[in-house]
Amino acid sequence: MAARRSNDVHYTLDALRAQAGPLLRYWWHSAPSRHRSISSAYASLIRRATAEHGDLIGEAGAEALVRSGGFRILHRTQAAMEDAIREAERLKASYDVPFAALSATELRVAEPSLKVTGAGAIHWTEPMSASDPGGLVEAYASLFRRCGGEIRVANAATLRRAGNGWSVQTTDGAIKAEEIVVALGPWSPDLLRPLGYRIPMIRKRGYHRHWSSPQPLRLPLLDGANGYVLAPMAKGLRITTGAELTKFDAPATPVQLRRAEEAAAELLDLGAPVEAEPWFGTRPCMPDMLPAIGPAPRHKGLWFNFGHGHQGFTLGPASGRLLAELMSGEKPFVAAEPFSPRRLPA
Ligand SMILES: Cc1cc2nc3c(=O)[nH]c(=O)nc-3n(C[C@H](O)[C@H](O)[C@H](O)COP(=O)(O)OP(=O)(O)OC[C@H]3O[C@@H](n4cnc5c(N)ncnc54)[C@H](O)[C@@H]3O)c2cc1C
Repeated sequence: MAARRSNDVHYTLDALRAQAGPLLRYWWHSAPSRHRSISSAYASLIRRATAEHGDLIGEAGAEALVRSGGFRILHRTQAAMEDAIREAERLKASYDVPFAALSATELRVAEPSLKVTGAGAIHWTEPMSASDPGGLVEAYASLFRRCGGEIRVANAATLRRAGNGWSVQTTDGAIKAEEIVVALGPWSPDLLRPLGYRIPMIRKRGYHRHWSSPQPLRLPLLDGANGYVLAPMAKGLRITTGAELTKFDAPATPVQLRRAEEAAAELLDLGAPVEAEPWFGTRPCMPDMLPAIGPAPRHKGLWFNFGHGHQGFTLGPASGRLLAELMSGEKPFVAAEPFSPRRLPA
């Protein structure tokens, strides 16, 4: 990755310099013993993700937007496949995550449109995937309104103390509240800076584009050797890249996407691109790899819920529930301490 030979990570030197502090902390937290305890805290929350989504999907009537059946990771060489089986067995033993190891022939039967099946695939059988994540979030928003919630749009940068509480300006005047939650993903550190919080965050950009593939896949597939994901979506076959470390507001440099598209074209008939320009977004990653969920260390009525990294869509309902339980003084459904904002540097 440092030599930029792998397609998983791309970086610019400017961005490395700008994010050097958080990246060094990330490296420190990656030591095996620290990473083990991070993984176990992370597992406590993410193992609740599908059930929490499941409840909301049912109530929102959004079943048509999700599919069960899991996802697969293709390994092009026998050596990579053997390593992957060993790692999958370790994860099954440690976290009880079920999988099946598919031979190249079994993968061809499962995904007939693949031209290349390498040495086979690891099939993670439990996850769900969404064919239209934006549509699913819209369905949750409609459910929220049906339950009496109100959605108003305002610039969060107008956040101020107002008596014992807080206020935000909208075009129709101020909204006041005793308690507020900062849930602005990668923008959260900027909002909190004027309140004196210096939140270390690594911002990892990712790109995607859809293709009109005539015979798309049945389940999402990660191409292990080339660091991208192929997923059948409502808009077409989506190709999504790994992490780019760049300036938050830098123009698009989709070099990883171009490499991913070349590698994907070896696997199946992509058809034509649906969009002329790819989309990109930013994954808000904390140096200790855990989201910040809970009360702000120094301000009453201020709550944090950000830093969900590569899996904020997956973790949304579970971390929303944890936050709601903390705010209303109920017993949290998972241990809240590992996610506490108190662990962040002062
Ligand atoms: C390429 C890519 C692929 C990904 N794939 C997956 C995946 O497969 N599964 C998964 O679980 N996660 C995935 N993620 C990660 C996921 O998108 C994030 O973790 C998640 O979006 C974080 O959610 P959030 O609500 O905290 O922040 P966001 O979704 O970033 O939402 C923050 C919101 O705050 C708004 N905002 C910012 N500033 C202001 C302001 N001043 N006033 C008002 N509003 C403001 C923004 O417009 C934005 O709507 C992916 C991310 C990328 C970039």
